[in-house]
Amino acid sequence: MKTLTYSKCGLPAMKVEVKGLGVKCSECGQEEAVIELKYARKKLCSNCFTDFFVRRVKRTVDKHRMFGPKDRVAVALSGGKDSVALLDALKRAFPKQDIIAFYIDLGIHYYSDHLRQKVQALTEKVRVPLHIYDLKDREGYVIDDFLTTKFRSKMCSVCGIVKRAVFTQMAKEIGATVMATGHNLDDTVGTMLSAFFAGDFESISRLKPVLKPLIPGQPKKIKPLFNTPEVEDLYYVVLNDLPVQECHCPHSFGASVSRYKRILDQMEKDNPNVKFQLLSVFLKRLVPMYERVKETEKENVSIEVEACKVCGLPTSSPDRVCSRCRRVALLKKRGGQKLEITVEELEKLEGRIVLIDVRSPAAYEKEHIPSAINVPKEVFEENPQKMARKLRRKFGRKTTFVTYCYAGRESYPVAVALRRFGLRAYSLRGGLEAWKEYVSVASKT
Ligand SMILES: [Zn+2]
Ligand SMILES: [Zn+2]
Repeated sequence: MKTLTYSKCGLPAMKVEVKGLGVKCSECGQEEAVIELKYARKKLCSNCFTDFFVRRVKRTVDKHRMFGPKDRVAVALSGGKDSVALLDALKRAFPKQDIIAFYIDLGIHYYSDHLRQKVQALTEKVRVPLHIYDLKDREGYVIDDFLTTKFRSKMCSVCGIVKRAVFTQMAKEIGATVMATGHNLDDTVGTMLSAFFAGDFESISRLKPVLKPLIPGQPKKIKPLFNTPEVEDLYYVVLNDLPVQECHCPHSFGASVSRYKRILDQMEKDNPNVKFQLLSVFLKRLVPMYERVKETEKENVSIEVEACKVCGLPTSSPDRVCSRCRRVALLKKRGGQKLEITVEELEKLEGRIVLIDVRSPAAYEKEHIPSAINVPKEVFEENPQKMARKLRRKFGRKTTFVTYCYAGRESYPVAVALRRFGLRAYSLRGGLEAWKEYVSVASKT
């Protein structure tokens, strides 16, 4: 039995346990089935499932003419299950295609390093060249810096905007003509449904599996997994032993599944085909209708797409500065602010300071920094907003909160979460260990 607990940016953890279903595979009739696909009325063994998955990717690419033999296809890797499954399946479906992988090191402390190792292991395993874009080196800022701006409560959205822009930029640099992303069926239909209720048909039409470049010289964007159920990406990764992200993004503390994805999962229990049906209604009926209407109205409402004055990527904003560049400009005005401080810096902090030990009560009882309070990390994880409100009420909004754990890794996401909800928070670099060392040196001198 193989198990994997998977956590995706902005969402709570998903858990899969792969075990035998006690029946033979409906495809080969030899091996024991490990996965049931209700919509296809199949129970498949590991190998037959992998074949089924890869065949669907191949069929999807061919049917929608996503790329041709001369294209250089770049796969945007996040380290998450969808893009990991996409890269491996594309390589299997098109072994002769020129395929490369991209990864952006977003500088999310601790987390980005973890992902970087995973994508390096993955690309070695599937033998695809990897191009890494280090945000800090190339542009001088990291995603965590946005915590000091008004976007601190919208970290996932800022991150998405930056990632999309950088991927497009990279594709051009490396001469990729096609850029593939790992959007799955659940993402696609969930977003469609929420855009539908908002009356935002423009967003629905952007969810098409193939998007032609808005201005010449940009890569074509494709979504070869747009008709692959999310859970199958996870199974694919587990069954094929592919390196994948195994820890939480610190910015996703306390996030919940989108309401529409939850509704869809509920509907699926009655009708295993519901997600495919909705996808088809949106793409075959609604989007063409919307595009026809847009075409006839073109003279009245024309959305001009031009190159951004700063970065040159397509934008429809009237001042010709794209949403990424507008956010980055704000950051530059602000200047960098650290989220991690050393013990020396802690000593110099002014005003009221509250030290929070985020380890377990047992570890805290055994040994802690004098005057520190104990709030285990799990308590923050459950509801960071509630915890932030509590702390503010108890200690006042001018207090500085310094979180620490044993070595500094666990306390960082807690400091990030407190920042997101408006508190001045830092994580103590090196944690209790660093503090102990500091105290022992100070006592000797
Ligand atoms: Zn089989
Ligand atoms: Zn720009």
